[in-house]
Amino acid sequence: METTAAIVLAAGQGKRMESKIQKQFLLLNGKPLIAHSLKAFEESRIDQIILVTGEDEISYCRKEIVEKYGFSKVTAVIAGGKERYHSVYEGLKEAGEAEYVLIHDGARPLLTEEIIDRALKGAKEYGACVAGMPVKDTIKISDAGGFVEATPDRSKLWQIQTPQAFSYSWIRQAYDKLFSSEEYQRGVTDDAMVLEAMSCHRVRLIEGSYSNMKVTTPEDMAVAEALMNFSGNFRPGKE
Ligand code: C5P
Repeated sequence: METTAAIVLAAGQGKRMESKIQKQFLLLNGKPLIAHSLKAFEESRIDQIILVTGEDEISYCRKEIVEKYGFSKVTAVIAGGKERYHSVYEGLKEAGEAEYVLIHDGARPLLTEEIIDRALKGAKEYGACVAGMPVKDTIKISDAGGFVEATPDRSKLWQIQTPQAFSYSWIRQAYDKLFSSEEYQRGVTDDAMVLEAMSCHRVRLIEGSYSNMKVTTPEDMAVAEALMNFSGNFRPGKE
């Protein structure tokens, strides 16, 4: 039987949130931020969830999140590391039995079952895929002096989100290689780029959603809450 695991990342300081409470535990629509994506995985076809958090938050997460909200698929709550890729590696070591693994930023609370399904399907079909959306803005590359160096063709640009979904053996091998030398670890910001750099496997882009935003700054909380309460249709205004 093919088993699937989700690694949900909730470690790190989240310094840009300017809050004493870590952003992953701030209340969003009355529930801790991290509980939203855990709920999406709990109600999905994923078999097992591994929650990666700070060393000091493990017992809080077990009691106030996993037990309180009845997330029965969470099989482990473990400590992450200094950078996101350290936390992912800890999660991967814990998920050793899985055939496919979805890696998700707990800071993206608007994850839906449709996106999880597409990611899982993509992982099975292509071995590696990442959720993303075509960019809406023109993107420019700057030079060191702050002048425009180039303007890439917008029709080819995607903004990348999570989940990022993989055949377990592919991503595990890529991460093992990443950790074989510190020199490889510079500037790692997502999981697909580890696979891109450490193997010759190709990564497929799949559709995420413009709502699947990452909560980083205080105003993102208000935007996420508004999106969560948005029915998907604009109501006609009164004349
Ligand atoms: O900091 P950033 O917003 O890029 O973090 C993306 C995700 O990675 C967040 O869900 C955060 O909790 C997680 N993370 C982690 N371990 C770190 C840094 C970030 O699990 N050391």
